[in-house]
Amino acid sequence: MTGPVTESDMPPVSRAPADPTRDGVDLIPSHRTDVAGLSVRRALPRPSRRTIGAWCFLDHMGPIELDRERQVNVGPHPHTGLQTVTWLVSGELLHRDSLGSEQLIRPGELNLMTAGAGVAHAEESTDTFRGELQGVQLWVAQPESTRHGAAAFEHHGELPRVELAHGAATVLVGTVGTVVSPARHDTDHVGVDLDLRAGINLLPLAPGFEHGLVVLDGALEVDHRLVEPGHLAYLAPGRHELALTTLSPTKAILIGGLPFPEPLLMWWNFVARTRAEVTDAYRQWQSEDDRFGVVASPLARISAQPPSWLTPPAP
Ligand code: MN
Repeated sequence: MTGPVTESDMPPVSRAPADPTRDGVDLIPSHRTDVAGLSVRRALPRPSRRTIGAWCFLDHMGPIELDRERQVNVGPHPHTGLQTVTWLVSGELLHRDSLGSEQLIRPGELNLMTAGAGVAHAEESTDTFRGELQGVQLWVAQPESTRHGAAAFEHHGELPRVELAHGAATVLVGTVGTVVSPARHDTDHVGVDLDLRAGINLLPLAPGFEHGLVVLDGALEVDHRLVEPGHLAYLAPGRHELALTTLSPTKAILIGGLPFPEPLLMWWNFVARTRAEVTDAYRQWQSEDDRFGVVASPLARISAQPPSWLTPPAP
């Protein structure tokens, strides 16, 4: 369920993140796209908003019924310079990577893979699972200090929760109030699953962070703006607290972080800084260089089309 970015999602130009909008809620429509034949809502990156903190990618997949014919099978593909964060609200998926990890993920569990200089992974439906699949996959850009480093994988079967007046917040990454996730984080950022009943819920925020909200199911109101599935609500830094009003049971994801200070160039499955870095990664993946290792998956390796700047102009 990991989607590559396309050049329309993210023009292949190294650019510093946009300045945060100063006030209010900026509602940004997600982009419908296709991953492994399944429709997803891509909330990040969008032309007007490439990052929220170090978060640089957010796909909302499903809900979709899986059966014998319809399965999620994403063959081995590489990543650089990012962490993949996978979180399901229904269904199950099998993760395999070139570090030798093989990990089933179910709702309430977190898979966190750090690419560093390079890793490859595959995501597969299991033979036994039939039923609804819904979840999110996000990428976190790694800072200069770790993006050339070793790859890593961690799975968290249980994560800390914050009980709210009308629901619960599960801390995937970072800190909410005094509750800290055990997941690795290389920058100052937060990721939270919100499972809300009807009512008004208050959530403490770090005032230096910018934030984004994506509703998976239901609807919520923030600053009198209605947020529904298919949109990202961007909140500028400066908030100490978030008041969320819901009229019916709602599931949402909150992400946030200190605005990412480094320019990013995202292309396909790579997060880099320059076109030269992307060109190297592309060529090394295509030539099956040792950089990305081998994934023990029955699925075929995914091949990349060359970056637009390597394609000779038509005669
Ligand atoms: Mn991936």
